[in-house]
Amino acid sequence: MKKKTFQLAAQVFVIIFVFLLSACNPQKEMVTDSTYMLGTYLQLSLWTEDKAEGMAVIQECFQRIRQIEQKMSVNIEDSEVNEINRHAGKEYVAVSDDTMAVIRKGFAYAELTDGAFDPAIGRLVKLWGIGTERERVPKPEEIQEALKYVDYRGIKFQDENKVKLDIDGMQLDLGGIAKGYAADAVTKIIREKGIKHAIINLGGNVVALGKKADGAPWKIGIQDPFEPTGTHMGVIEVADQTVVTSGNYERYFIRDGKRYHHIIDPKTGYPSENGVISATIITDSSIDADALSTSVYVLGLEKGMNLIESMEGVECIIITEEKKVFLSSGLKGRLKITNDGFQIVD
Ligand code: FAD
Ligand code: MG
Repeated sequence: MKKKTFQLAAQVFVIIFVFLLSACNPQKEMVTDSTYMLGTYLQLSLWTEDKAEGMAVIQECFQRIRQIEQKMSVNIEDSEVNEINRHAGKEYVAVSDDTMAVIRKGFAYAELTDGAFDPAIGRLVKLWGIGTERERVPKPEEIQEALKYVDYRGIKFQDENKVKLDIDGMQLDLGGIAKGYAADAVTKIIREKGIKHAIINLGGNVVALGKKADGAPWKIGIQDPFEPTGTHMGVIEVADQTVVTSGNYERYFIRDGKRYHHIIDPKTGYPSENGVISATIITDSSIDADALSTSVYVLGLEKGMNLIESMEGVECIIITEEKKVFLSSGLKGRLKITNDGFQIVD
C-alpha cells in the first residue's frame, strides 16, 4: 500500500510542471509546503512579505482540503458520499453545501455531455479498482452487471440539500470533479487573505493565481503523455486561470501488453479508448476544468472540441495517440511546443 501511495505521489508530483524559480521579487518571498491527500500529492506555493503568515494560510488550505476529503471520499467510511451510497434505493440523505455543490455540478456536466461524464460511475470504478491493490480486468458479464447501476439520471434531488440514488446498488464517485472543487476552495481562501501570487497544484489540478510576483505570466508545462511524469511536451503562459489535465498515464495498469487506465467510458464500462490520451482544460474555475477534462477525454477529439468551442471562456489542448496536438480557437499560437515529436494540427 505504501509503495503504491509513493508511486502515485511521485507520478502526480510533476504532471504539470510549474516554473516557479523566475518568480522572485525583492519584497515577496515564496512560501511552499506539500502534503498527501485526495490520494495524491498536493503542493501550495505563495508569495508573501510575511512568511509566517503565508505558512499559516497554507495550513488553513490543507485543513479545508481535509474537510472536503472527509465529506466526499469514497475511501472514508463515514463520508457523506458513502452515506448517500449506503442509502441508495432507500431514502434521501441530507448533505453539506460542499457535497451538494459538487454533486449538482457533476449532474449538470452529465447532462451536458449526455452521460460521458457520469458521477454515478462508482460501481465501475470499484469493479476495475485501478490504482488500488484490487486492480484487474473484470469479466464482460461483470461489466454488464455494473453498467446497470451507472446512470446519472438516477440521482434525485429534494429541497436544498437532499440527494438520493434511485436504485439500490448505485454508487457515486466524485473522483473526476472533487479535486477541482478543492482547488477552487483553496483559491478562495488565498484570495481572501489578500495574497496576489500563488500556484496551487492538487495532483495536476493547477490554479495559477494572479501573475508571478515580477508581473510576468506563469509558465505551465503540459505533461508529455509518453514520458515519465515531469517531462513536458509544451509550455503555456497563463494568469489567474486554472489548468487541469486528464490523461491515460496518471493511473493505469498493464495486463497482457494492454494499458487499462482510470477514465471509464460509461457507455461501454471499459477505459475510454478513442485516440485521445490527454485532455487539458484552461479556464477560470477549477471544478469546471476538472469535470471538462474528464468529459473531453471520454467524448473524444471531435465531440470534445465541439463542446469546448461552444463554451465561453474555456480552452483546451487535446493530444492523440499519434502525438497530434489539437488546440481550441482561443489557444492558437499560445502553446509553445518543446518536444518536436509533437505536432500542432491547425
Ligand atoms: P480525472 O480525469 O479528473 O478523473 C478520473 C476519475 O474520475 C477516476 O479515477 C474515477 O474516480 C472518476 N471517473 C472515471 N471515469 C469517469 C467518468 N466517465 N465520469 C466521471 N467520473 C469518472 N485516490 C486514492 O488512491 N486513495 C484515496 O484515498 C483517494 N481519495 C480521494 C478522495 C477524494 C475526495 C478525491 C476527489 C479523490 C481521491 N482519490 C484517492 C483519487 C481518485 O480516486 C481519482 O483517481 C482522482 O481523483 C483522479 O483524478 P485525475 O485528475 O487523475 O483524473
Ligand atoms: Mg477530472
